[in-house]
Amino acid sequence: MKSVTDTPRSGTHSQHEEVEARSLRVAVLVVGAGMAGLASSIMLSRMGVDHILIERRRAVHGLPKAHILSAKTMEIFRQLGLDEAVYRRGSPLESFSRLNWMTSIDGPTALHGREIGHVDAWGGGEDVVRYSAATPCRYTNLAQIQTEPLLNAEAQRLAPGRVRYGQELIGLSQDESGVTARVRDVAEETEWTVEADYVLGADGGRSVGPEIGVGWIGEKELGHVLIAHFSAQLHPWIKDPRTGITIFLSPDHMEHGMWSGGLVKMGPHRWGTDSEEWVVHAASGPGIPKDESAVIETIRDILGIPDLEPVIHSVGRWTVGGVVAERLRVGRVLLLGDAAHQHSPVGGLGANTAIADAQNAAWKVALVVKGQADHDLLRSYEEERHPVARNVVEQSSAALMRQTTEITKVIDGIGPGEEGWNALERFYADTPEGEELRAEMARTFRQGNYGVRMLGVELGQQYESGAVVPDGTETKENLDPAVDYVAEARSGHRVPHAWIDRGQVRSSTVDLAQLDRFVLVTDPGGRRAWLQAIAAASERVDAPIELVTIGAYGDYDDSMCNWAELSGLHDGGAVLIRPDSFVAWRSPTMPEDAAGELCRVLLSITGRAPAPAVA
Ligand SMILES: Cc1cc2nc3c(=O)[nH]c(=O)nc-3n(C[C@H](O)[C@H](O)[C@H](O)COP(=O)(O)OP(=O)(O)OC[C@H]3O[C@@H](n4cnc5c(N)ncnc54)[C@H](O)[C@@H]3O)c2cc1C
Repeated sequence: MKSVTDTPRSGTHSQHEEVEARSLRVAVLVVGAGMAGLASSIMLSRMGVDHILIERRRAVHGLPKAHILSAKTMEIFRQLGLDEAVYRRGSPLESFSRLNWMTSIDGPTALHGREIGHVDAWGGGEDVVRYSAATPCRYTNLAQIQTEPLLNAEAQRLAPGRVRYGQELIGLSQDESGVTARVRDVAEETEWTVEADYVLGADGGRSVGPEIGVGWIGEKELGHVLIAHFSAQLHPWIKDPRTGITIFLSPDHMEHGMWSGGLVKMGPHRWGTDSEEWVVHAASGPGIPKDESAVIETIRDILGIPDLEPVIHSVGRWTVGGVVAERLRVGRVLLLGDAAHQHSPVGGLGANTAIADAQNAAWKVALVVKGQADHDLLRSYEEERHPVARNVVEQSSAALMRQTTEITKVIDGIGPGEEGWNALERFYADTPEGEELRAEMARTFRQGNYGVRMLGVELGQQYESGAVVPDGTETKENLDPAVDYVAEARSGHRVPHAWIDRGQVRSSTVDLAQLDRFVLVTDPGGRRAWLQAIAAASERVDAPIELVTIGAYGDYDDSMCNWAELSGLHDGGAVLIRPDSFVAWRSPTMPEDAAGELCRVLLSITGRAPAPAVA
């Protein structure tokens, strides 16, 4: 392997010239062009941060792993101006708003092709009202192989020549002044270096974590699932156009435990029962079959259609397990996405959490490299996102278990072979016992959390960190914090959603968050005093801050008083919204010394002073 290190050159963004120079100096190095890395790059560009993204693959992913894009992710895409492009390509909510359990979709006996039950999913069906009260955005379903090229194109557009495929991180060292990364050009087999102030490790946990000595907490490989992406016409067998995901519990294929497999609708142009593409999940051993005919056989077996002729696009696998990185930051290196937390796909929390990690990390790193915050602000990345990482791993693992254990509790004895078929026979039998079992199953589906309606996990995150100043109030009671979301504008919560109008344009209070600044929201009566406070605070703190008023004759109208009620503000009270739409601080009424208070709060949030005492 060749290795060259020349004098750094500056002032050019040409990939050729920089690689020629064999050394590059940037503010931020992003490692990995998955969802986390691409989102980070877009955000850093939007905040004017000089950075480079390196990716060891030569092209975007071939495997359609993530596909459920949550309302929270869509809020972030909305902030980045990408929501419409994603919605245009993604599935309408009605086409994936149901999670089904079946024995198979067809097969030789009356017990094959039977539905066991279903629940509404992803904010659809009965959840439409609950979700639309909580967020301006709805979920969509778009495979990662469609979303990543879109993010990639935007990242390249905003930072031409700075999103580099075929470049692999092979070494990382840091000291007080910065980080040095050794990078290998995969095609040329040459080495070059990147000098950066900060590194965002979005490499899926492969290199950066080990380089900085961060291990995993939890169990990584408890089981294996094969996934195969293929084209086939399944509409003769698929009955319900609302079904996005089907889980199979077939005694023919339960030898690997839990369930026999799953089927996911992938569009990409038609989203009804006539979807062109699908993904089959099959509980399996650790390997991937080399022979395509073995994969085709697996698909036929899982679905119960022996003469199906699927066209295979890609084959991969995922592991059942759940791990969290021991730390999410070491010095100047932050870990995000699958580098920070890994779990099963159940709950659709992986890529969605990765994108929210990116948002949390990007605004903080941007403030620090621009000299508008102290390096200490970065402590809050781990303080805020480590609890979230632990929670998503826990929730995803628990939901994965429940998706089968709750069913097997009712269909006692379901498992591989004859005993399993006997259990299903009792369940479907036209007998008092069968009727009682089916009624119990219906109750189970109504009451359980199967990982597809976890609005609380998604929007109810509460931060306690140096980047939040407590407002002295207690959080509201929430009896089921995984499923239920309780809106509140308390410090450390995502700003609650209320529709507000500017002239004829309707937007959400969530849209007030701007990546490159804090936003102070008050009522029109508080405008003058807060403007003076901002001006006075700006003399001591260099943090960008904008004032917005909501209420009659303000910047935005709140004609139904939703915001007034949710925010708990009156008489010139204010909330300070962070770039990631979380409330940094709230003062229910106008403080006596607004300028002094705002200044203390900003100094604290930007890591320049301890948090002020709560009044
Ligand atoms: C079957 C399946 C279905 C899923 N469904 C969903 C879903 O519906 N919703 C959801 O939110 N999540 C889902 N997930 C999870 C989701 O796919 C992951 O959580 C997400 O892709 C993680 O993104 P990431 O950017 O953190 O990591 P990755 O996508 O793993 O990206 C990391 C990148 O870093 C690159 N890299 C690694 N090492 C280096 C190096 N040394 N130098 C340079 N580059 C490097 C890799 O090549 C890779 O491209 C699913 C996962 C699976 C397996």
